Amino acid sequence: MKLAEPLSGGCQCGAVRFSVREVGRASICFCRMCQKASGSIGGAFVAAKDFSYTRGAPAHFQSSSRARRGFCANCGTPLTFETAHGVDFSIAAFDKAGDLPPVIQLSPETRLPWTDTLTELPTRTPEEAARVAPEYAAIRSYQHPDHDTSAWPINTGPTAP
Ligand SMILES: [Zn+2]
Ligand SMILES: [Zn+2]
Repeated sequence: MKLAEPLSGGCQCGAVRFSVREVGRASICFCRMCQKASGSIGGAFVAAKDFSYTRGAPAHFQSSSRARRGFCANCGTPLTFETAHGVDFSIAAFDKAGDLPPVIQLSPETRLPWTDTLTELPTRTPEEAARVAPEYAAIRSYQHPDHDTSAWPINTGPTAP
């Protein structure tokens, strides 16, 4: 699907930024490789038919004879799944990740058993939320914002204690 407006995205630190002008199928894969590569429940990817890097470029790990996975060498954010057939980008790395809903799940047989009930988990009570709010309000984020920037410091301020 050719996009009317390119979709931008990038890693957590902002050293790698990309622009995608045409997308294919969006999917979520629950195979063990996608779980390991994302450090999470699986990999949600969208095929990028036409794209460019607008800042930096990912480093790669050859995860199989068929595929390599791109990540930011500075902050570690998983970014791509690449084969001879093309490059897929991690959906959550897009600035508007909500605009790319997966239309198919892959490798459901290795889905972690607790994945299906995640949205039924309890959430913080209003009292608990109020108790942690001041601590959260004091946090300074070093994460790149969800839009392109002309310049962005890669490391800002003191490291966490
Ligand atoms: Zn980064
Ligand atoms: Zn997978």
